[in-house]
Amino acid sequence: MGNFRYWGAEIWFASVIAIIGLFIGLFTGYTGEILFAISVLYLAWHIRQLYRLKHWLTESRNLYPPESIGIWSDIFHSIYLLQRRNRKARKRLSKILSEFRASTAALPDGAIVLGEYGEIVWFNKSAESLLGLNSKQDVGQRIVNLLRNPRFVNYFEAGDYQLPIELSSPVDSEVRLSLRLTSYNKNQRLLMVRNITRLMQLEKMRQDFVANVSHELRTPLTVVNGYVEIFSDSKDQLPSFFHRPVEQMGQQIKRMRTLVDDLLTLSKLESGDEPKRESKVLPHQILKRIVDEAKALSEGKHEIHFECSSESSILGNEKELHSAFSNLVFNAVRYTPQGGTITVSWEPSSEGFCMAVTDTGPGIDSIHISRLTERFYRVDDGRNREIGGTGLGLAIVKHVLERHGAKLVIDSELGKGSKFQCYFPAVK
Ligand code: ADP
Repeated sequence: MGNFRYWGAEIWFASVIAIIGLFIGLFTGYTGEILFAISVLYLAWHIRQLYRLKHWLTESRNLYPPESIGIWSDIFHSIYLLQRRNRKARKRLSKILSEFRASTAALPDGAIVLGEYGEIVWFNKSAESLLGLNSKQDVGQRIVNLLRNPRFVNYFEAGDYQLPIELSSPVDSEVRLSLRLTSYNKNQRLLMVRNITRLMQLEKMRQDFVANVSHELRTPLTVVNGYVEIFSDSKDQLPSFFHRPVEQMGQQIKRMRTLVDDLLTLSKLESGDEPKRESKVLPHQILKRIVDEAKALSEGKHEIHFECSSESSILGNEKELHSAFSNLVFNAVRYTPQGGTITVSWEPSSEGFCMAVTDTGPGIDSIHISRLTERFYRVDDGRNREIGGTGLGLAIVKHVLERHGAKLVIDSELGKGSKFQCYFPAVK
């Protein structure tokens, strides 16, 4: 409605001038010339208003518009209102931005915004102190040129940022950092850096404690075991009501020794910083030995097959691999009821090699599968204690595989058996 009012007035004004010009023209006999002169003047006035508008928008620092009349008064006023709204929105946005920057700058964790090519766009104070970045020189530099640790470069280029990686700080090797990338807005990435030194120290204390306790328990257990063995060897000389207790003591001591050994194995595995892929090992030979041991453990109660279609070597630690494979194979023997079939296989896979143990045992409900590799996690506590498990076997398997760059895949269905597969990368 307002617009129409201004347009109406403008048209009215232009028509009045044209009519007056027409009359003067008719009266003086110069109609054409006078109408032409009026049009030129009218156009010149509009051009002048356009010039004032441009001057106001581009050169003047004044927020208020120049005075005008007619439609130009409305145009100036509308632009003024628009600018005022924009200015408010800009102020609000820059306030939010500066508050956001102040809060991220105060974060104890380092935050680095990376552009499309991995170049640093912005970082906070903590990133400066944790990674030794320099706010003046390093903005615009590619992050991989500043953080040259090969593990970080691989992590950055691989593009799989589900898990963080841990590295020593380039400023102080005593400081351990956890770095995690997050992709957003198509090609941008945010790198978050956390100081986890304290957490690592606590974790180390926990590992040392478990290792020390297990180690200290070994000697008294060996002594007690020695006496129990003497008693069971000379059972005939003991009164008959001692027979069962001695037998049970022997079983429980064996259980405790397995538990202590498993705890020690786990602590040793955990204490290694980098994956230990020491020398070339031949998995088919390790598995052959384990299958023979499994047959002895099964005492003919199961059908045990070994399918081997590769004799290639992989890089690894033979003792650790033996421990992991035997845990999987012996679990299959222990959990599969008499008459079941167990198949152990070693074959090439798309990524390298695959070791698999398949059984026709009771299977595992899918709700348990993601938790099986946790320490002391058992599906059926009572029954598994009877079977003699420690609950540490699959935790050991997981650690060994991690240290070999391999991954564990468990397929199982209740009542239909289980399949444990270990995927190893090919030797490069
Ligand atoms: P445990 O020493 O108790 O066997 P593990 O860590 O080796 O501990 O295994 C964890 C749990 O996974 C076991 O308690 C058992 O319930 C289940 N499990 C492992 N292997 C099998 C298998 N082949 N068949 C059925 N259940 C299994």
